[in-house]
Amino acid sequence: MAGTVLVTGGSGYIAGFLIKQLLEQGWRVHTTVRNPAREAALRPLLGGDADALRFFTADLMHDDGWAKAMAGCSHVAHVASPFSTNAPRHEDDLIVPAREGVLRALRFAGAAGVTRFVQTSSVAAIAYGHGRGVHRFTEADWTDVNGADVYAYVKSKTLAERAARDWIAGQGGAMEFVSVNPAAVLGPVWSDDFSASIEVVRQLLGGLLPGCPDLGFGIVDVRDVADLHVRALTAHGIAGERFIAAGPFMKLIDVARVLKAQMPADARKVPTRTLPDWLVRVSALFNPMIRQITGELGNVRDADAGHALAMLGWQTRPVEQSIVDCARSLIERGVVKV
Ligand code: NAP
Repeated sequence: MAGTVLVTGGSGYIAGFLIKQLLEQGWRVHTTVRNPAREAALRPLLGGDADALRFFTADLMHDDGWAKAMAGCSHVAHVASPFSTNAPRHEDDLIVPAREGVLRALRFAGAAGVTRFVQTSSVAAIAYGHGRGVHRFTEADWTDVNGADVYAYVKSKTLAERAARDWIAGQGGAMEFVSVNPAAVLGPVWSDDFSASIEVVRQLLGGLLPGCPDLGFGIVDVRDVADLHVRALTAHGIAGERFIAAGPFMKLIDVARVLKAQMPADARKVPTRTLPDWLVRVSALFNPMIRQITGELGNVRDADAGHALAMLGWQTRPVEQSIVDCARSLIERGVVKV
């Protein structure tokens, strides 16, 4: 099955792998970028000739360009959404583009006669606001945005998926909607403009952390996340479904140990001790980035991807491979000096 699909945010980490996989499978791909000047640098990295891959200029915050980008598309993967390591000045800097952006994409998709719309949501829309401790989440769980542990990005992803599902229920007509909800995405980077999720490996490998805070996350490979998007775009009988894209939950210290064990020569600067929580909390007084994550100390937010495995035949590669491929690509691109 191949037709024309719009992948929003063609400059993004996940979108890049998705575009490559769709092109390999014979799809014609439209993609949006905010800045048209980026096409020249992105096209050689993504592959596809001028007919197979077309760039359109569109911003989540404005209507301009969306009708042209959607024209002729039967499918949409709405991947674009603000994602940054920096805490925003105001939560609306993330929430408004995330929520208004998906509603805008849905509106233009509906008008263009798109039949299947896949939203890249997140485990962030599932696993927060449930209190501290050890949890294993499924697609039945929803983040409570009033929870004490909810920060701007988490809110943005939750409110955007909620808004999309409400819109579909009210105005979606025959258009089918599916969400893919990834955990922390690692794997090789394909450009120097990589995702915020890569920061963990960059900082460990570059020796930028004095030790490992007692933090963890589910890890999933970017190639597997892209593959799950392709399945979500094409499988029959899945309208309305939500699919968690996650591998095992790992603490930072476990990621560090994988790096040390699998690439000892290059992982010389990787810290091998866990930082006491009190030290992380003191550092947070001076560092807003650390402040964002102190609420995470000691928590386990495991997410169960059994639904995608069973319903879509999705498979994941070993997490060690995702971590090592991520680290090697950062070294090869000169992002990290070891
Ligand atoms: P990324 O590389 O930072 O990609 C984000 C994309 O969104 C970029 O193409 C960016 O365009 C675009 N974007 C942001 N604000 C925009 C706006 N106002 N108008 C148009 N485009 C805008 O991050 P990623 O990891 O690939 O994330 C892709 C999606 O996956 C996001 O929805 C994210 O929430 C979700 N996700 C990611 C992870 C993860 O661990 N990486 C986990 C769960 C879910 P510019 O290049 O112009 O900024």
